[in-house]
Order: sequence, then structure tokens, then C-alpha cells
Amino acid sequence: MTVSVSPSANFSLEELDKLSLFHPVTSIADVQKNGPLIYAKAGGVRMRDHHGRDLIDLGAGLWCVNVGYGRPEIADAAAAAMRNLSYYHTFGGASNEATICLADRILSLLRERAGAGHLARVFFGSSGSDANDSAYKLIRYYNNLLGRPQKKKVISRLGGYHGVTYASGSLTGISAYHTAFDMPIEGVLHTACPHYYRFGEDGESEAAFSDRIVADLAAMIEREGPETIAAFIAEPVMGTGGVLLPPADYFAKVQALLDKHDILLIADEVITGFGRTGQWFGSGAYGLKPDIITMAKGITSAYFPVSATAVSQRVWRVLEEASPRMGAVMHGFTYSGHPVGSAVAMANLDIVERDDLVAKTAENGPYMLRQLQARLAENPYIGDVRGVGLMIGVEFVADRGSRRAFSAGLGPHRLVARHALERGVLTRALPFIDVNSFSPPLSITRAEIDEGVDRYVTALADAMPALH
Ligand code: PLP
Repeated sequence: MTVSVSPSANFSLEELDKLSLFHPVTSIADVQKNGPLIYAKAGGVRMRDHHGRDLIDLGAGLWCVNVGYGRPEIADAAAAAMRNLSYYHTFGGASNEATICLADRILSLLRERAGAGHLARVFFGSSGSDANDSAYKLIRYYNNLLGRPQKKKVISRLGGYHGVTYASGSLTGISAYHTAFDMPIEGVLHTACPHYYRFGEDGESEAAFSDRIVADLAAMIEREGPETIAAFIAEPVMGTGGVLLPPADYFAKVQALLDKHDILLIADEVITGFGRTGQWFGSGAYGLKPDIITMAKGITSAYFPVSATAVSQRVWRVLEEASPRMGAVMHGFTYSGHPVGSAVAMANLDIVERDDLVAKTAENGPYMLRQLQARLAENPYIGDVRGVGLMIGVEFVADRGSRRAFSAGLGPHRLVARHALERGVLTRALPFIDVNSFSPPLSITRAEIDEGVDRYVTALADAMPALH
């Protein structure tokens, strides 16, 4: 028997959600059992669900609402852009003022705030995943033009997160995103996760750990043949993988290895770009010299979906020289260089600069980290509290001495995140290792940090009986 359901006013919003919405990265069974959580309003770092419950968002959505919620300047910029041009594409040389200004502004920021004056052009899209797919395709294009059709493999790291589309999802180094989707695709390789706290061996120094995992990478390159490896992709600080800071000298050693084998470096700055680490870009913070930088989230603080893929002179020159014989570069999206998105990005970056949010992050991030470290120091299940800027991770272990993880599937961090929600604070339970992440709007005040940390600590106490 088939049952047809037509939505009607007789259904609650929760019921309508369950009957109509296919949620991303969500257990269908959980939503059918527990219903959705419906958000109604937000301002600054605070949100209200549709029952009126007050919540502090210590995640800034998905690491993205950098200027905080409800900024009227951004809404005004979007409305003006919608009234003015509304939309036009950027195919075939078509352009618009806001998008031209945004491309120039991103290159200027990279040059002036990250020492990355070698970036030459910016390609726009609308998600972090598509930015990484664009990078993935462009390096193939580049090597085809150079007459190296065999130089196509891309190496990423276990624990890395680069999106969910077929190429970017394959670059993601977290198996939960691959299982049941026949991923990763051929030609994507995963090397060691640079997480010293978890994967460092007993008695091994951080520098020795770095040496070991870079030696693993070198061995992988030799095994595959350097002439087959096109690029290495890395987040300057791994986000979804667990807020993993690069171990001592890691990137300097990786960069030297890539240079030796003429392998391009793609820096995925989808989270770290535009201030989250307390510097404008993670590449500047960690001294990377990427051939391609991908960005999204913080460009617009997520008020409009915009992503960017910046390519270096080295890559651009090859594309430009081949252009007369190649014709159009047949890659682009309907929404590439959307004038409303670009206007929103410009208004957002105005706020970041006017309110000095990057410098504030460099001060308030360490403050929040210290608060969490102090308040969680005695907890037997918290092994490590780490971070840079307003990117902080709290890692759970079953045993602090041995750093032994909880059994797979137990999910202490998921339990604590559920209690946190009950206590009015949003934190994320990450999918790779047992970590709660904190990435509040960069506009958060110290009083709001204190209140959020208080609520989290209370939630952790609530969860303790279930952890023993
Ligand atoms: N790269 C990184 C580092 C990310 O954190 C994300 C999303 O969280 C992505 C790429 C994918 O971005 P999107 O979800 O916009 O496709």
C-alpha cells in the first residue's frame, strides 16, 4: 500500500521536517526518532531555537560565521546587490564590479597579510568542496599542458577534511565519509595523520615524530614514483580531523620534499582563511608557500555561499601561455563570481578589518584555551586541550596515562555535546577522533567565552556518570 502525504497546516514543523527534508551528514534514524532541532533566530554568538531556548554557538555554525550572526551591514549589502544586478554569470569574460574587487582584495590580503604575493588569480565557486574540486581539476589541466599526463596523483592526510564531492570527498582522509560511497577514487593517496598526541610513539619527541611521518611521505612518493604525483593537499591546521596543529617543523620538511619532486602544494584554508587562527591565513601562520589556496566559509562568514581557489603565478603562467591553442578553460559554475556573494564578502571583510577581528582572535583565542585547560585539567577523561586562535579541540581518552582512546563507537564527545546542548551551548563532536571542537565567532567577547565555558563544564559534569 502506498501512502501519499500532503503537507498541511495540521503538521508541526518537526513533523514536516521529518516528512520532507533530507538532512546532510545526519542519521536518518535519529531524526525520525528524535526530530530535528529547528533554529529560529540568531545574533552575535547567540541563537534561539523555535521553542525560544537560548544557546551560545561555540562552533560558529560549521567554523564559518566569523563575524557573528545578524550583521545588518551584510544584510544591507546583499539587499543592495540583489536590487542592483541580482545575478549575472562570469563565463566568457563576463564580469561585475563586486567580484573584480573581491578577487583583488583576496590577492592583496594574501600578499600583505600572509606573504603570499605569488598568488596570481582567483577562481570563484560556492563551497569548500567545489574549491577543492577546482584545485583537483586545475592541477590535472596544468600537468596535461606540461606534457606530463602521468603526473596526476594527489596525496592528502588521514584525518584531513576537504569536502564531500567525489574528488574532494576522496581527498578527505576520514573513512566514515567514504564507506558506502565507493570512495576514495583512484589516484588519491592518504599519508600519516600529523597528530603527535595520539600517534606519537612512547618516548618519541615531537621533532622525531615529524621526521618519521615525513619519511613515510617520502617513502610513499618513491614507491609510487615522483613522476606520478601531482600535488599534496593539507589544511594548515586540521579542523574536522580533531583541531590538529602541525607538529614541530612538519610543514618546512614537507615543503622541502615537495619542492624536490616538483609536487604542487594545495593549502586548504577553508577554515583557517580570514582570521580563525589569529592570523589572516594559516599559510602565513605556518610559513607555507602553496601553489593553490582554497578558501570558503570566512570569506562571507557564511552569509552567502562563496568559495575561492587562488592559483600561483607558476600555475597561471602555464594556463595563460597555452590559452591561444586551448580555447576556453571548460570549468566553471553558474554561481562562480555571483555579484551578491561578492558584495556580501566585501561587507564581511570590511567588518573583519574595521573590528580588528584577527588581532582580537589572537588575544581571545589563547584566553579561551587557557580557560578550558584550567577548567578541564582535573578531568580523568580529557587527555589534551589544544588550539590556535579560535580553533580549539578537547580530546577525550579512556586513560590519560596511556592516552588510550575509548572503544570505537562509544563516543564520549558525542555524549558531552548532547549534554552541552541541554545546557545551552553548541559544540561539535568530530568524526575522526573523540574531540569536541570550539570555533566561536571571532567577535566573541571574554564574558561570552566565560559563559560558554561554564556551560560546557557543567555539561561535562552531567555526562560523567555515563563515562565511568
Ligand atoms: N575544507 C575544509 C578544511 C573544511 O573544513 C570544509 C568544510 O568543513 C570543506 C573543505 C568543505 O566545505 P563545504 O562543506 O563548503 O563543501
